[in-house]
Amino acid sequence: MRVTFLGTGTSAGVPVIACECATCHSVDPHDKRWRPSIRLVLDDNTTVLVDASPDLRAQALRFGLTRVDTILLTHSHADHVLGLDDVRIFNFRQRAKIPCVGSARTLAQVREMFAYVFDPSTPRGGGLPKLALRTLVGPFSIGGETVVPIPLVHGTLPVLGFRIGAFAYLTDCNAIPDVSWRLLEGLDVLVLDALRHKPHATHFTLQDAVGTARRIGARRTLFTHMSHDLPHNATCGMLPDGMALAHDGLELDVSVMDLNLLLPDAQAAAAHYK
Ligand SMILES: [Zn+2]
Ligand SMILES: [Zn+2]
Ligand SMILES: [Zn+2]
Repeated sequence: MRVTFLGTGTSAGVPVIACECATCHSVDPHDKRWRPSIRLVLDDNTTVLVDASPDLRAQALRFGLTRVDTILLTHSHADHVLGLDDVRIFNFRQRAKIPCVGSARTLAQVREMFAYVFDPSTPRGGGLPKLALRTLVGPFSIGGETVVPIPLVHGTLPVLGFRIGAFAYLTDCNAIPDVSWRLLEGLDVLVLDALRHKPHATHFTLQDAVGTARRIGARRTLFTHMSHDLPHNATCGMLPDGMALAHDGLELDVSVMDLNLLLPDAQAAAAHYK
């Protein structure tokens, strides 16, 4: 399976509008961060988009996102869903609705935020995304792979990460609930939220993220959702072996693996999707 980071920045993106700091003025391309999203291309070529960032159009053009078969939503914060309108181009090209998968709460909020999309009285001029909203009730499969939703804590909001094979994507969190640790065993690649150094009510600090990543013990950990407080090169230089900041455009291949042994715990965790 191939993973592409389409965006690795926090909600404001980096550079931040009108900011004079060194990271925002850096000439290192690794310090340009669009809002968070990844693409997964499974071994049967199924293309999965995790979150639809407000930068989706630019990301698609820059990184060659030419089709989307399924969208997985971690939660409904603006930096993760505001790109959903741009999905209509994929509907048009693929001549099909696109399944959009998330918790009941996330999908209810998407329905409100995109009321014009779901209102049958909106004039149909060919300009609306066609999303087949699918509420998550447990682990499920896409393109022959099992997807295991991972309950996470994002301040007071329950959100989801996703595991496919030996890869897990855990953006937007500041704690991992007890029910989720077992679901994170045996990872090859972990992607984890690391906002900045200063504490934040809803995101891991870099220090907490490193501690959490150690406990999870993936072979390799890449941090995401960074603010301008974390310049790429200097920050990567401080990290332990096997850990680095991700950056926009980073691609990696991850081995697929059978998750059958995890399924009982993954089913039990479904009670925590909220
Ligand atoms: Zn800045
Ligand atoms: Zn969020
Ligand atoms: Zn976010």
